[in-house]
Amino acid sequence: MPKKAKDARRNAVGPRRPIFDPEAVGAARSRIMRSIPQKDTKPEVLVRKTIHAMGFRFRLHDRNLPSRPDIVLRCHKAIIQVHGCFWHQHGCSLSSIPRTRTEYWLPKLARNVERDAANVRLLEGMGWRVLTVWECDLKEPKRIARKLKAFILSRQTLRKPSRSLSTSKRSR
Ligand SMILES: [Zn+2]
Repeated sequence: MPKKAKDARRNAVGPRRPIFDPEAVGAARSRIMRSIPQKDTKPEVLVRKTIHAMGFRFRLHDRNLPSRPDIVLRCHKAIIQVHGCFWHQHGCSLSSIPRTRTEYWLPKLARNVERDAANVRLLEGMGWRVLTVWECDLKEPKRIARKLKAFILSRQTLRKPSRSLSTSKRSR
């Protein structure tokens, strides 16, 4: 966050919070940090490492695809999106909406959810298979590793003609 915005936020909160409550400030800060969409987040790196260790190769944030998906496995016609639970409103305990500034968060988060759904429809329409991995899924690394492998290798049962991005000849 730029310093100016940080200061503005601090000033905005200041007068309404006459007693300094480090716990509340800490909680608010982590909520704000969590709410900023980032590339190379910890969950994303974890997913990458997991599938890389299984021998799969992939592209990151492919500019040639709509919404620049997090992880793209061209050979398998598979896309893996890693979503933060709050930012993409998973509905789990990590995704509760702040009680303050609700009028700010609600439309913003609703837009994210809509955009996610539209992106999936678009990618699927192009013949891609899309798996969404949630931040909270990663609490069970073994389970998610099995799920990722099954998803990537399940292509055979879901063959669709590729209508786009067929520049490279596939060997399989
Ligand atoms: Zn979640």
